[in-house]
Amino acid sequence: MHFESLNIIEPILRSLKEEGYTSPTPIQEQAIPIVLKGNDLLGCAQTGTGKTAAFVLPILNRLLVGPENLTRALIVTPTRELAEQIHQAIQILAEGIRPRSMAIYGGVSSKPQIQALSKGFEILVACPGRLLDLIAQGRANLSNIEILVIDEADRMFDMGFLPDIRAILKHLPAGRQTLLFSATMPPQINALAS
Ligand code: AMP
Repeated sequence: MHFESLNIIEPILRSLKEEGYTSPTPIQEQAIPIVLKGNDLLGCAQTGTGKTAAFVLPILNRLLVGPENLTRALIVTPTRELAEQIHQAIQILAEGIRPRSMAIYGGVSSKPQIQALSKGFEILVACPGRLLDLIAQGRANLSNIEILVIDEADRMFDMGFLPDIRAILKHLPAGRQTLLFSATMPPQINALAS
């Protein structure tokens, strides 16, 4: 199978070629058509399976059309390292095209993050605690979110972030598309997914 048959559009196909991605991994092959149709997705996948591109590619495909400078996709992930990794993956795959991302996480000054938020990035990659802080300060506007990704949900549960995730959900439009990725499916993650 090739990325062309997954309906990934031309500028993104070019980035994939440059990155040396010749064919989709199994999670990409299964997830991308579902996400491109606008459906919700519950994905069981570990790091190393290509799961980041499984959600980043259809997000880029979708955001290439429609309004710019509005935060339209939110990716919530448990650690600062993962947030940076996802942000870097987006930068590589979105090279030369419009959707841009920024990462927000704690443990560093919030000032540059607040300044960047005011400029309007289409994709926000965020750790739950700092995102909630910025929402409380009125700095992060999630009212235009079309796609939410909850990444490494089981790890977020282990780290005690599920109440934060539930609090974030209250700030998102009800009609959004939701993708949830988890390496394992403990009952608490099943309950969250439901
Ligand atoms: P992830 O599971 O998202 O952390 O991805 C693991 C690694 O696989 C990353 O270094 C990606 O750049 C790489 N990767 C993702 N998708 C593909 C693909 N279709 N072909 C080759 N490498 C890939």
